[in-house]
Amino acid sequence: MNESAMRAKEIITGYSGRPLRIMEVCGTHTHEIFRLGLRKLLPPQIDLISGPGCPVCVTAVGFIDEACWLALEKGCIICTFGDLIRVPGTEMSLAGARAKGADIRPVYSPLDAVALAKDNPEKQVVFLAVGFETTTPSACLAAKQAKEAGLTNFSLLTANKTMPNAYQALVGSADAFLYPGHVNAITGNATCIRLCEEQGVSGVVAGFTASELLTALAVTIRLLEEGKPFFRNCYPRVVKDEGNPAALRMMQEVMEPCDSEWRGLGMIPASGMKLRAEFVDYDARLKYDMPVITGKPNPACRCGDVLQGKIRPCDCKVFGTGCTPLHPVGACMVSDEGACAAYYQYS
Ligand code: SF4
Repeated sequence: MNESAMRAKEIITGYSGRPLRIMEVCGTHTHEIFRLGLRKLLPPQIDLISGPGCPVCVTAVGFIDEACWLALEKGCIICTFGDLIRVPGTEMSLAGARAKGADIRPVYSPLDAVALAKDNPEKQVVFLAVGFETTTPSACLAAKQAKEAGLTNFSLLTANKTMPNAYQALVGSADAFLYPGHVNAITGNATCIRLCEEQGVSGVVAGFTASELLTALAVTIRLLEEGKPFFRNCYPRVVKDEGNPAALRMMQEVMEPCDSEWRGLGMIPASGMKLRAEFVDYDARLKYDMPVITGKPNPACRCGDVLQGKIRPCDCKVFGTGCTPLHPVGACMVSDEGACAAYYQYS
């Protein structure tokens, strides 16, 4: 451990002030903080709570139902990031749809789905576009490449989300946010600075190594002690104020903001991204004239409360009994970034 990390550790372990609630917005932070054993350093008055920064976890139940409909009713090949396959829908997951004969394929990139469509002109291929500003540019690139290639057998089912209005919905739920470094690497810091200056929301951009997380936590604690709203970028080797202009341009060209439903948080205005008019031929909902499909979450699942930091995963009645990574009831137990999966694995 380097000298500055040692100093950060001393600040954290030596804290003896008022109770503090710090929200790890990002699921990867939740997992890394557990994996690196950093929670064990925290004095009891520092409460680290989980937030909505896991893309699979915040994807609404109805989206899984829509994907199952495309797979089973329209016979589309569904390409998706692997985590999504086991997320429960209202009646079944995509794994359940596969058991009924649907063609569900995990891919590493939306461009793999474009390649699949090129190689199988007689099949219809749909890519499930979920995720935040980190993954949305690659979905946009896929739509652009499909259009340039004149593909008529490729489309996107979109549930892309953006963070600014989600932060807005979470104002007041914590004393400070640990902002997700990889999201800020794309978006830049303008939203976080504005939240601080206009609404007094405090937060620190954090990286993902032990040293970076210790530093971010120590800076957060020190500045909370000072009692004034603050924003700091503690991940400057990756995050620049202006973000990633090329990725932002790609999103701007292909998609535009829309209202979006978040699991547990409900509909948040202008918190999603949908394809622009020039790309509607690649919008699976329009292409297949999809009916309105409203998902019904399992009433036992409290993912919504977990994602807002209202409860800890272990406060859910079915945590570790009815709901385990092998038999998940909610998305937060499925995803590699899910808070319930992290608590199950490490706590
Ligand atoms: S433990 Fe399972 S059922 Fe409970 S909130 Fe987490 S994912 Fe949902």
